[in-house]
Amino acid sequence: MNIANIIFPNRCLGCGSMEIEQDREFCPSCWGELIFLKEPYCACCGLPFIFDDGLYSSNESLCDHCNKSLPAYDKARCLFVYSDVIKKPILSLKHYDNTQYAKTFAKLMARMQTDLCQAVDLIVPIPLHWKRLILRQYNQAALIAKHLGNILEKPVDYKSLIRFTNTKSQGHQSRKNRQTNVENAFQLKEQVVFKDKNILLIDDVMTTGSTLHEAAKVIKLAKPKGIYCLSIARSVLGSDSYR
Ligand SMILES: [Zn+2]
Ligand SMILES: [Zn+2]
Repeated sequence: MNIANIIFPNRCLGCGSMEIEQDREFCPSCWGELIFLKEPYCACCGLPFIFDDGLYSSNESLCDHCNKSLPAYDKARCLFVYSDVIKKPILSLKHYDNTQYAKTFAKLMARMQTDLCQAVDLIVPIPLHWKRLILRQYNQAALIAKHLGNILEKPVDYKSLIRFTNTKSQGHQSRKNRQTNVENAFQLKEQVVFKDKNILLIDDVMTTGSTLHEAAKVIKLAKPKGIYCLSIARSVLGSDSYR
């Protein structure tokens, strides 16, 4: 056993159990409870069709929302549906200083979305407004992006995309409110870093996708090759809302 295993014993992210295989993130029972985001889903935003409103359009590969109005990003993917098992470690990283979880989430992303991760040139975390960053002391998305960058040996840019409006928390808001809440919330400090590159935007949880859309909207002005998004979990209709 190496020293890291004594200081940070390998525990299940869901229940804290130590009955867990080396190099695994969850015990078999929690792993079984996770809801994996699998096809069939929207080719663009990744919304699984079972959670769509059922208003299928002629273009079956897109969900109703994307069919009406395509997001500014090319593709968004999430690993899991936002359910109780995954909610615990996500909130723990966000609010309770369990920053070591960021590395575990990055490992899961690199393993479960290998093709998407390999295709990118630059990783960009969704930034927090500076006031919120001072309150929280760290940005959970930036921590995940940092570890993902280390694993994939890809650069991470923390500075060029900035959030200049301090938006309200996205939890408990309707789709419409979420959209207006983040509208024009981002700005680019630097454009040249994004030009002709495949960008991977990282966030912890995707809800309606309006945050990712708004960030992608400004990055698009810098003429990147493509904009992809990756989050740990997606809050979908009928699953727990993001708190
Ligand atoms: Zn467990
Ligand atoms: Zn969609």
